Amino acid sequence: MLADVHCHFFSSNFFQTLGADAMQAAPGGDPADALPQMLGWEAPGTDDELADRWRKEFDRHQVDRAMLIASVPGDEASVAAAARRHPNHIVGAFMFNPAADEAASRLERAFGQLGLRTACLFPAMHKVPVDDERSVAVFEAASRHHRAVFVHCGLLSIGIRKKLGLASRFDVRFGDPLAVAAVAARYPSVAVIIPHFGAGLFREALMAAHAAPNILLDTSSSNDWIRMYGGLTLRDVFARALDYLGPERLIFGTDSSFFPRGWQRGVCDIQRAILEDLAVAPTAQALVFGGNFSRVFGIQPSEH
Ligand SMILES: [Zn+2]
Repeated sequence: MLADVHCHFFSSNFFQTLGADAMQAAPGGDPADALPQMLGWEAPGTDDELADRWRKEFDRHQVDRAMLIASVPGDEASVAAAARRHPNHIVGAFMFNPAADEAASRLERAFGQLGLRTACLFPAMHKVPVDDERSVAVFEAASRHHRAVFVHCGLLSIGIRKKLGLASRFDVRFGDPLAVAAVAARYPSVAVIIPHFGAGLFREALMAAHAAPNILLDTSSSNDWIRMYGGLTLRDVFARALDYLGPERLIFGTDSSFFPRGWQRGVCDIQRAILEDLAVAPTAQALVFGGNFSRVFGIQPSEH
C-alpha cells in the first residue's frame, strides 16, 4: 500500500478563481486554458477529466490512494467530484478560509453532503490565528463529522502565484505549530496534519506533535526549508522525527500538483532511500507510506 497525503487538484475553477487576480497576466480567454498555457502546463479540462488524469497517473506509479486538495477557497465541488468518481483512490480535501462568508454552512456542506475528508487551513494566507474561534470552529466541525484538519505552518510560498507574478502578502506569524497544538489538544479525535515537517518550524512542529498526540507531520515536498539550518539534511530530519515521535506520526506526501509533471516519483524515491539508509524496519516504513493514511481516513485493510 502506497498512499500520498499531499497532492493538489488544480481544477478549471482553481485557474478561473486565480484568473480573477491575474487578468493582466492572462488577457482574454478562459483562465482555465490561458493560465496553464502561460505556465507550460496542461489545461485541466472538466473535473472528471482531471480526476481520470490523476487516476491514470496513480496507476502508472502504483500509488494506491492519494489525498487531493482543492487549492483555492470555494473549490470544494471540484475535488468532491473527483473523489466520487474514484472513491477507492482519491480522498478529497479543501482549502478553507475560516474568515469567509457563510463559513459554517460551507464547512457543513463540505464535510457532510460533499463527503470531503480534510479541511486545509493556511493561517498565514487568511490571517486568522489557529486558536481564533473561527479556526476552532473548523476543528469542532471535523470532530463532529470524523474528519481531519490540515494546517500549513512556517514558510509559505505558493509556486503558481509566484510564477504568475501575483502578490502574496502572507503573514507567517500566523502559521504557528504551537497554536495548532493548543487547539488539537482540545479535539483529540481529530487527526491534524502539519505539512513539510513544519516548513522551517521543525522544532516547534516536534513540540506540537509531542504536546498533542493527534498531530501528524507530513513529509511532502522537496523540504527546501532545511537550507535555513546549516548542515541539516533531510536524512537528519527523518531521523529526529522518527526518534522523537515514532513512525505512527509521519505521513508520506509528495506535494504533486500539475501536469505534465504529474506525480513526483523522485520525492518518494528520495524518502524511501532515506528510510532504508536509516534501517527503519519494514513495518515502520509501511506506516509512513500507507498505514497511517489508512488509520487517519478509516480505510480497512481489506479495502487496499
Ligand atoms: Zn502543497
